[in-house]
Amino acid sequence: METTIKETIVEQCKAGKIPEEAKFIARTENKDVHFVVKEIASGGLAVLRRKTKFVGIGNGLRTKLNVNLGTSSVGEISEEVEKAKIAEKFKIDAITEMSMCGDIDKIRESIFQSVTMPVITCPIYQVAAENFDKGNGFKFNGGEILHNIEKHLKEGVSAVVLHLSMTKDAIKKLKNTKRIDSIVSKGGALTAAYMIENNCENPFIENFARIIEILHAHDATLILGNVMRSGGVCDEMDELHINEMKMNRNFANKAHRHGVQVIVEALGGHIAAKNLISYTKFYRKNIKFPLFASGPVPIDCALGYDHIAACLGAGIVAGHGADFLCCITPAEHLALPTVEDVKEGIITFKIAAEFADAMKYGISERDRAMDEARDGHDWEKQFGLAIDGGERARQKGKNLIKGTGCTMCGKYCAVDVMKKYLNKM
Ligand code: SF4
Repeated sequence: METTIKETIVEQCKAGKIPEEAKFIARTENKDVHFVVKEIASGGLAVLRRKTKFVGIGNGLRTKLNVNLGTSSVGEISEEVEKAKIAEKFKIDAITEMSMCGDIDKIRESIFQSVTMPVITCPIYQVAAENFDKGNGFKFNGGEILHNIEKHLKEGVSAVVLHLSMTKDAIKKLKNTKRIDSIVSKGGALTAAYMIENNCENPFIENFARIIEILHAHDATLILGNVMRSGGVCDEMDELHINEMKMNRNFANKAHRHGVQVIVEALGGHIAAKNLISYTKFYRKNIKFPLFASGPVPIDCALGYDHIAACLGAGIVAGHGADFLCCITPAEHLALPTVEDVKEGIITFKIAAEFADAMKYGISERDRAMDEARDGHDWEKQFGLAIDGGERARQKGKNLIKGTGCTMCGKYCAVDVMKKYLNKM
């Protein structure tokens, strides 16, 4: 039975009503509910819905995090479920399930059963993978893609990533591009290969009206993929990026006019450090919808530590206006991440999000409390405030005693020395 939503969140907000989702976001983000309603109505804020759990993404809200999961040509269901549980443990806002091998329906179902946060999918992945397994290669059709989108949404997926900015014209330009690293969007590459193999236009564009109907029926969010992101910092913004931005803006406006919430992917992949701020300002000026950035990696020589490089890029772009970040792991560019890699990527990106919010909104209560605890050598309090819940700090500071300094400076602890000598004055 198809869920039939008569009035979507966007439509309710446009009509001046206050949906439950807006009340929830206003309460959890400490915002005026009328501000939240206004932002949803104008497209500045989107809500990922999963049963009674709502995640607001966009203007004026805390920076949100996504974790990508799923098998590639390798991977096990148990590992992917474990990664999802790690994401839940560290209070990640959403996960994107991207499996391409094994029993993909079962992987998605197992993840649904294991965690409570919103789940996002890229439906063309499953269609391509299952057709490849049957030996069909890219010989599938738009109907199969639509069916897959609908199936995911019926199961309760909160948002789907669709790749509308790949066109025949863009493919021609990519063939002759002077870029070193072409594009690194898997969904974009699959869409392009499908179009070339079947000599057709973009299946998402051809079926856009029906896609909007399906999204509307489930009050789900459309995420417009950042297909044209390059794989290297040497490839600067070009015509392909600009055309993509304009296309995604048009599709976003159309979807939103029809009552569908939208998030636009941009600023992903690799962006040279010197360009991070100007590119973010460019997208922020042109796109009113929430911006979702995967990375970006601002230097390319941090192989094995790309999560740290990307944390710098993500912190800067989110600090200047991006709203939703996709965690990068140490395995980026090297392998399907392990559970431990995912955990490392999550903690690193929690730092990026915290940094971005400190840029956007100023010093947090958590930082203020940490400063006070630090001044009093209150180690337990510091551990409790740490971004990972104190796991690493507890390991490093095993023998710390409340009220005394650590072995970093030993008996010359600057805090204690100053307190002692200032008291003598
Ligand atoms: S010993 Fe040094 S690092 Fe440790 S608490 Fe004192 S001042 Fe800070």
